[in-house]
Order: sequence, then C-alpha cells, then structure tokens
Amino acid sequence: MKEAYFYKKSGDATICILCPHKCLTRNNEIGICGVRKNIDGKLYSTNYGKLSFINLDPIEKKPLKRFMQSTRTLSVGSSGCNLSCLFCQNYHVAKEMPMTVYRTPQAIVNLAIEYDIPSISFTYNEPIISYEFVLDTAILAKENGIKCILVTNGYVEVDPLMRLIEYIDAMNIDLKTISNEKYKKVCNGALEPVKRTIKIAHNFSHIEVTTLLVTGMNDNEAELEEMFMWLADIDKNIPIHVTRYFPNYKYSEPHTRIKLARQIKRLAEEHLNFVYLGNA
Ligand code: SF4
Repeated sequence: MKEAYFYKKSGDATICILCPHKCLTRNNEIGICGVRKNIDGKLYSTNYGKLSFINLDPIEKKPLKRFMQSTRTLSVGSSGCNLSCLFCQNYHVAKEMPMTVYRTPQAIVNLAIEYDIPSISFTYNEPIISYEFVLDTAILAKENGIKCILVTNGYVEVDPLMRLIEYIDAMNIDLKTISNEKYKKVCNGALEPVKRTIKIAHNFSHIEVTTLLVTGMNDNEAELEEMFMWLADIDKNIPIHVTRYFPNYKYSEPHTRIKLARQIKRLAEEHLNFVYLGNA
C-alpha cells in the first residue's frame, strides 16, 4: 500500500484525480477501479507491488509490432480496472481479485537486468490504476537503461499522464469505439479522454492502437471507418491492431468472424499505413 500521488482532500473525503471518474471516497471507501482507498482521509493505492503476473513475452504479443521488434519484454500486471467493459477479455485480473505476489519496483528492474530483458511492460490489467508502482518502477528502469511500455485503455487525466510519459517509451492504447455513447453504456467511460491520451502520447512516445472488433457493439463499417479516419488525421503511420473478440465476461455475442475481420483490415488499410490483424 502506498499513498496516492494524485488526489485532493475535501474534509475527510478524498477526490482521486488520476482518471476522469474523479471518484469521491469517504473513510474506508474504494474508487470505481477497486484499488484506491480512502483510509482516515488519505487516499492509498492498495495494489502497490501486488502482481498477478510476471512473464517474459515477445514484444509483438503486447501487441507492439513496430517497436523493438523481435525482442522480449518483462510483462507485469496487477489487478483492477477503471473501465467496466462488458466484453472484457481479461476480466479475471481486471474485475476479480487474482492471486498476487509482492515485488518492489527494484525487484522488477533487477529481474529485467538479470535476464537481460531490454523492456518492462505494464499490462494484463489497466496499469494507470497502479500509477505509483508503475511510475516508481519506470523511473528506476530508465536509470538502468531499460525501456518501459504501457498497455492501457488511455482513461487517464492529463497531469498524471504528463508526469508518467517522460519515463514511457511505447504505449499500446485501446480505442474501443468512436462512439461516446457506447463508451458510456458498454464501458462506463467516455471517448474524449481516450482520444486526448492518444493525441498526447503520440507526441511523446511510440504508440500503437488496438481496437477489438466486438460483435454487435462496434463492428459496423461506417463507425470503424470514422475511427480509422480520425486516427489517420493524427498520423497515417500510427499502427493499428484490429483484433478479433471472443465471448467473455458479461458479453456472449458470437466471436468476430474471420471474414469480417479481414474485411475491416482492408478498410483500415485504405486510411492507415500499418494495419495488423489480432487473434486471427
Ligand atoms: S483511478 Fe480509480 S479511484 Fe481514481 S478516479 Fe479513477 S476509478 Fe476512481
């Protein structure tokens, strides 16, 4: 447990200013992400250093296709998420309390050094809500010449993003839909903060974008084309991963048909230079 870096006090309540939810919590209450708790008027990160996964992965699995190609990355994940996507593909770590082991930032950096791994990825669940652990680890990693990667939903406020991004070399950011209404209804989030994160991150680090093609949610061509055009307006060279969905968590629509996924890939290629099919 560590005191949170981004919150304000309001009497005995706290207002977390890490993500756009801006949760107000009173004593012993926890924010929407499930891992930030008000204890006696201070806000704490309750999952600091509590890791559900520590793995070595090919960097392409993050997915990052155009950054440090053919290298391995030390992937670490914790628990919780600040979005509530009904189709969550990682709900065991995002929405349930997985088994964890405790590791300090120094231990994670030491592991990367010991196995000669050039990067650390914060992944599996949403890393932004483990902000203090991610930032502390990324600072140490940078001091040791190790790159850092965020695999994120991009749902974060500007100040914490700007403080962290200095230490982040690459990001894969989810863009779940170009419809704000669907972000609200299906994920309990909002579109604009995610768009803002993509624009900011593009100026400071390598970024790639992932869109899960969710049957009946976002898999119509007109909507997807609007998304590809929006991304192309920022930079046609931003790589995009259009990834097949499989029924999970609270969403049981059939998986993305491979034929449709290929069709969407071709559509994306009309607007963007680097398009990859995921889970194909
Ligand atoms: S990070 Fe968690 S506690 Fe903070 S505003 Fe977002 S959901 Fe709420």
